[in-house]
Amino acid sequence: MEETLVTKLRILADAAKYDASCASSGATPRKAAPGGIGSTTPSGICHSYTPDGRCVSLLKILLTNYCLFDCSYCINRRSSNVRRARFGVDEVVQLTLDFYKRNYIEGLFLSSGVIRSPDYTMEQMMLVAKTLRQAHGFAGYIHLKAIPEASPWLIEQAGLWADRLSVNIELASDASLKRLAPEKDAPAIKATMGQMHERIAEAREERRIFAPAGQSTQMIVGADETTDEAVLTTSASLYSGYGLRRVYYSAFSPIPEASRALPVKPAPLRRENRLYQADWLLRYYGFTVEEISAGGKDGMLDLDIDPKLAWALKNRDRFPVDVNTAERELLLRVPGLGSRAVDKIVAARRHTRLRLDDIARLSAGLRRARPFLITPDHHPLRLTDRLDLRERLTRPSQQLSLFP
Ligand code: SF4
Repeated sequence: MEETLVTKLRILADAAKYDASCASSGATPRKAAPGGIGSTTPSGICHSYTPDGRCVSLLKILLTNYCLFDCSYCINRRSSNVRRARFGVDEVVQLTLDFYKRNYIEGLFLSSGVIRSPDYTMEQMMLVAKTLRQAHGFAGYIHLKAIPEASPWLIEQAGLWADRLSVNIELASDASLKRLAPEKDAPAIKATMGQMHERIAEAREERRIFAPAGQSTQMIVGADETTDEAVLTTSASLYSGYGLRRVYYSAFSPIPEASRALPVKPAPLRRENRLYQADWLLRYYGFTVEEISAGGKDGMLDLDIDPKLAWALKNRDRFPVDVNTAERELLLRVPGLGSRAVDKIVAARRHTRLRLDDIARLSAGLRRARPFLITPDHHPLRLTDRLDLRERLTRPSQQLSLFP
């Protein structure tokens, strides 16, 4: 590998690490045609994680970290004193193929600073994906970060070649975006999301391929005063209004020579984690934003316990529930029971009356679920009588000895 390419790679892979919005788990299974290369798997490619939980198995790079814009929270902003570099289309294509063949990666996540114009930048990114697919038969995963304000035609071209498209909303409140990224245009970001949503829905109806893994976005949390409740309200409206597959949350971390408008301390990673848990409750467990935030205080989630347990502890009158008769929706609200465990319980109870041992076989979360469940052999005390329930359920786990 040429030295210059190595240097560019070092700069542009490092610059991309602040973007959390990558995962390929939405990809449909696909194998390359004869003479082509690559594949996607339904389980996604997120097999490796950095210590703070970020997926690293995509080649995750920027096309360039030059940028016309000056967003305060971004290391690549125009006024930032960082080393700059830029890949050509062919260089990204070659790197992706070389890394894929060496089994280092299973796909490409390509983002970019805005150079020359949104259209020019979007065209370069689209050409990377098109060249990989058309000239090299690459069937691996490709996620392109769409540039807001790029022409609809270019976004539509990008969707023909990429598995996933995303455009970052960046901050949950339009007012904060205006303050911290005045050159960005919140309505333009949402218009791009709306356009991608329409094209994806149309293609699905017409059984054509257009960004088959859908679209996602990223929000930075902790760079402004926005509460978790407001963040989740924005997420809920993005899921319902634009059919997003995922909203990624990225805890704000200070950047060198940061603007005074930003906090000096990083946001706790646990906040990011609680938001992901809450997001899951929104999408798969039938919770509303109001219910989730009622489990915390002043619009913020409880950092010490997960949002489902926080809700259950504040709604003790709804428990315990009978495993053998309760509606699926109510079982989904039992702390410790995941949706797969609930489905297994619902299927199993058609044939038998479930006892506590059966629940232990169907769910790994029985310890947490126990006080909230009734079975023929288990009738817990009324939860309102247990003042110490929170402490009992949140007792820190102990590492077992490897050698008895
Ligand atoms: S447009 Fe993107 S790359 Fe440019 S400064 Fe803003 S966030 Fe950073």
